[in-house]
Amino acid sequence: MTSVETKVREVQHFINGNYEASSDQQTFEVKNPATQEVIAVVSEATEQDVEKVCQAAREAFENGPWRTMTVAERCAKIRRMAEIILERKEEIARLEAADVGKPYSHAVAGEVPRAAQNLKFFADFMEQQGGETYPMEDAYINYTRYEAVGVAGLITPWNAPFMLTTWKLGPCLAAGNTAVIKPAEMTPLSVSLLGEIAKEAGIPDGVVNIIHGKGSVVGTAITKNTDVDLISFTGSTATGKAIMRNGADTLKKFAFELGGKAANIIFEDADLEKAIPVSIQAAFLNSGQVCLAGSRILVQRSILDTFIEKYKAAAEALVVGDPQAAETKMGPLVSEEHFKKVKSYLEIAKEEGATLITGGSTPELAPHLKDGYYLQPTVYLHEDPKARICQEEIFGPVVTIIPFDTEEEALQIANDTQYGLNGVVWTENLKRAHRISHGVRAGTIWVNCWFVRDLRAPFGGFKKSGIGREGGHHSLEFFSEAKNICIALN
Ligand code: NAD
Repeated sequence: MTSVETKVREVQHFINGNYEASSDQQTFEVKNPATQEVIAVVSEATEQDVEKVCQAAREAFENGPWRTMTVAERCAKIRRMAEIILERKEEIARLEAADVGKPYSHAVAGEVPRAAQNLKFFADFMEQQGGETYPMEDAYINYTRYEAVGVAGLITPWNAPFMLTTWKLGPCLAAGNTAVIKPAEMTPLSVSLLGEIAKEAGIPDGVVNIIHGKGSVVGTAITKNTDVDLISFTGSTATGKAIMRNGADTLKKFAFELGGKAANIIFEDADLEKAIPVSIQAAFLNSGQVCLAGSRILVQRSILDTFIEKYKAAAEALVVGDPQAAETKMGPLVSEEHFKKVKSYLEIAKEEGATLITGGSTPELAPHLKDGYYLQPTVYLHEDPKARICQEEIFGPVVTIIPFDTEEEALQIANDTQYGLNGVVWTENLKRAHRISHGVRAGTIWVNCWFVRDLRAPFGGFKKSGIGREGGHHSLEFFSEAKNICIALN
């Protein structure tokens, strides 16, 4: 596959170690967003199918060997999954490019290796874990064990399906839980392979299960299911709220990674040679469909003209095209519906009086891409940080430059949002870098860099960007129950 996907794949649920169709044989189609060609026919689960998959995961948890096998044995199997992913990384990256529309070059060099690392990291990390000991003089001693919780529902979005699913699956499995994975219905192809990869790695049947279908049906049914103990969800803030409501009756444990609208703050002393290319990436990677996107670019007024000139030139130089081609830096948006949503913000920007710096229409494309959901990298300038384009998560290649005069003003604008996933600061002034990092109310602050991840570090959002943290021991704690054992010494 060098250009576009031509084979139509059949994608089925993976339940208790086998791929199978829905009980009513229903399916839905998945299209390549670069061409609108149908690339897969996917089984669409009923509530009955969800019941079945959750029962399989429960049975594997209660009566299978997974949670009681030695940690070393369990982690060896998870590491084997990581190896298989690396062995198949070109194939997985091609699928991701065809399904999501993300450039193959990014998938093969970035996201798929990171997916393998997610699994390997948590397997290695698990083996290093201990517990606490609390002696009470010479009378009693307390010690802590961390045990698996049970069945985890892992519900993931379409923007980085394979990477984000493994980010949850790694700690889920390492801690001894079983999983029901629900990938986004728009992009189920790569995640579907995790079933056969788990099987080949020797993970027992029923430990890794995958179920496809609409969020409103399948996602809701998983959330309400009595066999499911916890939900790890990455997706929109609106869906997070629905999951919380639907999981209330069964008192689920939740971890939520939700939306964002990060401020990328450029001070007048910033090194623009670094700030411009990284800010371009932060805006247009994956066509801007990144929760961590630096989509509000706050620029100190004294350098505004210089910044706009350089940023515009860099945005216009981005190669937009076929996701499968090596030179492509930006592909299409994921679907027609999302394309329409993103384009509606171009109208909103016009109504709000934003100044268009560049973009705003369809890029020039090769003939085979004429039906793709493409939009040029689009940059606005707006003085009003309260404008909708400055407040709402557009989740596309559309960013707004907002001028500011003072550090206090920058901080005030940066925090004037319902979101708090991350922030970015560009300055050569160390004290200011610390002041801004402390002042921005968000879960991750990058200073003079963006999207650098140490998997041990906490990851998650303030405010409406999430609940809880993932990464290192934060993930393991979510997927574990802490048990205290108190022993009388006399
Ligand atoms: P979405 O919320 O529409 O869907 C995410 C998943 O939830 C899908 O699998 C979907 O089928 C499922 N779902 C939908 N309705 C459901 C319901 N009622 N119950 C249970 N599950 C349901 O999000 P999306 O459009 O796929 O993804 C884009 C969003 O994800 C953006 O807001 C983005 O910021 C966010 N995101 C956040 C992070 C993060 O780490 N914070 C990472 C990536 C994406």
